[in-house]
Amino acid sequence: MGGNPRRSYDKVGRELPPATVGGERTQGRRLAEIICHPCVRFVEVPIDDLPPDLPIPDICLRYRCSKCGGKNLSSRMSISEHYAQIREERERRDG
Ligand SMILES: [Zn+2]
Repeated sequence: MGGNPRRSYDKVGRELPPATVGGERTQGRRLAEIICHPCVRFVEVPIDDLPPDLPIPDICLRYRCSKCGGKNLSSRMSISEHYAQIREERERRDG
């Protein structure tokens, strides 16, 4: 068993394809969020300069925490940008 800790698996253990930088960019997303687990610290990073085929959960492999110097990191798309996008869409719709 086991598998890659940065991937999701379905009930029968098949790896689910991760979201990629290119896919998120086509949806208008610009920011990812790197989380340092020991520090419980969140840093937003732009995804503009990252390769399109890079999986979102692998963005963290390129970074090191600037506070503790550790590499116990996770990455995902920015939550605050996600909510800002929803808010903008609602404002556009409701005028
Ligand atoms: Zn840290």
